[in-house]
Amino acid sequence: MPTYVYKCPNCGKFELFQEMKDKPLESCPTCNKPVKRIISGGVGVIYKTNGFYITDSKASKDSHAS
Ligand SMILES: [Zn+2]
Repeated sequence: MPTYVYKCPNCGKFELFQEMKDKPLESCPTCNKPVKRIISGGVGVIYKTNGFYITDSKASKDSHAS
């Protein structure tokens, strides 16, 4: 199944598994704002939108390690 990447102006990018025949998502399942579909050309950069939770989890791991 292809993975589609959508970009929400409110939530940033997210992935969605859809069949080819499925209609493209028009609004964000989280906040209902109109979303834009991005054709995913490969892996990576999907969760780098704002990086806030990535930074968060790294920070807590780092402080735990030291
Ligand atoms: Zn949203």
